[in-house]
Amino acid sequence: MLPLTNKYCSGCRAPIRNKECLNCSECTNTYDLDCGNVSIKRFQLMTPTHKLGWKCDECRCKQPKSDNTNTPARAEGLSARAAPAPFAESGGSNVTQRTKQKSDSSKNAAFVTEDSLRLILSEMIKTEIQSAVQESVSQSIKNCITTEFERIKKDLAMIKELKESVEFFSSEYDRMGTQLKATEEHVKN
Ligand SMILES: [Zn+2]
Ligand SMILES: [Zn+2]
Repeated sequence: MLPLTNKYCSGCRAPIRNKECLNCSECTNTYDLDCGNVSIKRFQLMTPTHKLGWKCDECRCKQPKSDNTNTPARAEGLSARAAPAPFAESGGSNVTQRTKQKSDSSKNAAFVTEDSLRLILSEMIKTEIQSAVQESVSQSIKNCITTEFERIKKDLAMIKELKESVEFFSSEYDRMGTQLKATEEHVKN
């Protein structure tokens, strides 16, 4: 079954000529892919059975739970969007229903906030403790290193002093040695 020519899209009223289109199995209206909300990719993947059972958005909204296997996410979104419509049309009761809806949503928001607030707080406390621990650890490590470094510096200074005095004594020893030798020579002669 090829798309019929001389047909018009029930959505945009544009003629459908040798164009991919779908016939709604419910209202028998013909839609081009744009108005039928079917991508060309999807259309190509659809089996003939799928195409025969296809329903336009409008018909799918009328019976939300019967057959939404085609595009579940879209059907859901549509029914969610379609829901507030009766409120707008219902004139006098409009206000009360709106306020009710509003308070409901704010209650809902408060519930979510309380829950997420607890999560955020515990997360914040965790982070705070972590950073505090980290800071104190790094501080004590820094202190430790500084102290250690100071000690090593002192040790080095001491070693240097010691070396200098050793050098002094050894040169003194050498000097004494030469002096002694000279004296010995002097005594022999
Ligand atoms: Zn169209
Ligand atoms: Zn339809």
